[in-house]
Amino acid sequence: MASDSESPSSLVDHPQNQPTQASSSDSRESSSFTAKQRRDGESDKQYEDRQKLENRLSAIKHKILVLSGKGGVGKSTVAVNLAVSLARAGNKVGLMDVDVHGPSIPTLLGMTGYRPVGDGNDLLQVQMTKNLGVMSIGLLVEDKNAAVIWRGPLKFGMIRQFLRDVAWGELDYLVMDAPPGTGDEPRAVAELVGPGAVAVVVTTPQDLAIADVRRSISFCRELSLPVIGIIENMSGYSCPKCGEIINIFKAGGGEKLANEMQVPFLGAIPIEPEIAASGDAGKPFVEAEGDSAVRTAFSNVASVIADRLGGTD
Ligand code: ADP
Repeated sequence: MASDSESPSSLVDHPQNQPTQASSSDSRESSSFTAKQRRDGESDKQYEDRQKLENRLSAIKHKILVLSGKGGVGKSTVAVNLAVSLARAGNKVGLMDVDVHGPSIPTLLGMTGYRPVGDGNDLLQVQMTKNLGVMSIGLLVEDKNAAVIWRGPLKFGMIRQFLRDVAWGELDYLVMDAPPGTGDEPRAVAELVGPGAVAVVVTTPQDLAIADVRRSISFCRELSLPVIGIIENMSGYSCPKCGEIINIFKAGGGEKLANEMQVPFLGAIPIEPEIAASGDAGKPFVEAEGDSAVRTAFSNVASVIADRLGGTD
């Protein structure tokens, strides 16, 4: 990752919550023997499918699920800009949109008209840049406005296919954008990825959003999904004239909650009106040139996450 990374002291405060790379890879190694063994009652097809999923996942170093307690806090915006920041820092990144009810990644990345293709065996992700491949349910559904009824098992099947059948290849990071709340999708990711998955929770500073984050963190704990930290989005407004941070909403709620819940605080992303415009234009904000407090904030958060996960060596 870029060398501009900072390690906020809050990260050091909670060593018990550090989901180290060693712990996730150790558990993967220790489970690899049992993973290769046929399970009781498993058919040939089930065994093959499970092997394919295991093989696919073992080629991906870090699997990061981006969650939020409620909608509208900027979860998808954060997922996209985080994935792009990690890719721009030289990492191989996959971005997987598992928000079946409102897939917004294709819009945020200007992917209208893109269709993933298969090669007979696998589904090929859309390679947006050399380092960034994307797969979204929004790229596969014909009519974006059609109401699709997805019941739990169907969602689970779709997420399994995305993890097992998409030719992600060797990745440093797979960033997964889940719908807000504590529904089937994050549950499916936690179950399918197993001990290698970690969660990042996005919130805004207001009390209402914060209350929902508490639920998200409890949910992750229930799923044994390690929370690598909280990002506070729309945290103050950086005045374009003087650079001073003006706290339009409250600020610091995310960090306070992180301390209270004993999870690391990964950083704050200020409000930036251009973010909405760049989302509508299908161009990730962090790709634009020029100095910006928000671009720096995204890059710092990406560095902190990479550091927490132990890098990609
Ligand atoms: P979610 O995925 O949580 O529902 P979105 O990522 O769709 O939220 O963002 C909701 C809206 O907020 C979008 O219009 C987006 O452009 C805007 N937004 C997100 N983050 C910021 C920010 N830091 N500054 C200004 N607008 C933002």
